[in-house]
Amino acid sequence: MSALVFYSEFDSFEQWSALLAPHLPGVNICRAEEVQNVEEVHFALVWKPPHGFFAAYRNLKLLVNLGAGVDSLVGRDDLPDIPIVRLSDPQMARMMASFVLFAVLRYVRDIPAFERAQRERRWHYVHPRSPETVRVGVLGLGELGAHAAQELVRQGLDVRGWSRSQKTIDGISCSSGIEALDDFLASSDVLVVMLPLTPQTQGLLSAERLALLPPGSAFINVSRGAIVDQVALTQALQRGDIGQATLDVFDREPLPPEDALWAMDNVLITPHLASVAIPASAAPQVAENIQRAARGEPVLHQVFPQQGY
Ligand code: NDP
Repeated sequence: MSALVFYSEFDSFEQWSALLAPHLPGVNICRAEEVQNVEEVHFALVWKPPHGFFAAYRNLKLLVNLGAGVDSLVGRDDLPDIPIVRLSDPQMARMMASFVLFAVLRYVRDIPAFERAQRERRWHYVHPRSPETVRVGVLGLGELGAHAAQELVRQGLDVRGWSRSQKTIDGISCSSGIEALDDFLASSDVLVVMLPLTPQTQGLLSAERLALLPPGSAFINVSRGAIVDQVALTQALQRGDIGQATLDVFDREPLPPEDALWAMDNVLITPHLASVAIPASAAPQVAENIQRAARGEPVLHQVFPQQGY
């Protein structure tokens, strides 16, 4: 007999266990407090478990992070030395791409200017730009980033992408490595941040790097707040050096009520929901990884703590 231990303060145990059970006959799916025999616990499906959580489960074979972002997990000093995988969910990628598409097109089609004009009862004609004249830079070409970038290509935009290793993606001009970053920023009329938070990306978008963006550019962050110097970003937006921003993530969440960003006309704030895992579409992939681990086969969508993602 095998058991899977579940821990999350945000996700529904009932929903996840009902979706996983048909794929995992012979696996007892239970909450931590319901585990009867810790020796039988071979799998963990967790989101932000408390420190020391894993110590009791000495026979763990696989740790599944209940989300795409693993920054809250991989830096911990209490991780067991077993494969760790993340959620990979086609619906999550689609939901993220639709949010990015909305945020980018809102700027490309000058919607904030029309929203302002409408409040003033002002007929404000701005001739629409041709999409291929707008350079959109996507930082991070992973599962979510590459999918969003391809959706942007379908809109006829001039899409560039940046990642750690060099990529070849149809219709996207790809660059890689820290030495390419400054030029990349300088040629992004709209910048979309889709990097994971790691020791290498923390504070990557410093005041100096933000200053490289073209005057009046638009800035969109849907990954993690700590990748950007939020004070420098706020000041750049106040000066108008960066024209506008859509921010779904912040260095402190919830964003405190006194934060200057709330009252800024050129900033759209959403409360960290650009995308979420959809259990019904993520469960088959979680189950497949558990079956692979049970058979001793290599798992999919593995994350590497030393790399940070
Ligand atoms: P992946 O791990 O699949 O991809 C990460 C991408 O970033 C890869 O292309 C990787 O390069 C690149 N990258 C990592 N480190 C560096 C670096 N130092 N320099 C240059 N490029 C780097 O992530 P996803 O696309 O699945 O997700 C991105 C992030 O989105 C998640 O980490 C999470 O934080 C966030 N997220 C936010 C949500 C929200 O609601 N706001 C919801 C879900 C996720 P390479 O390809 O070479 O490895």
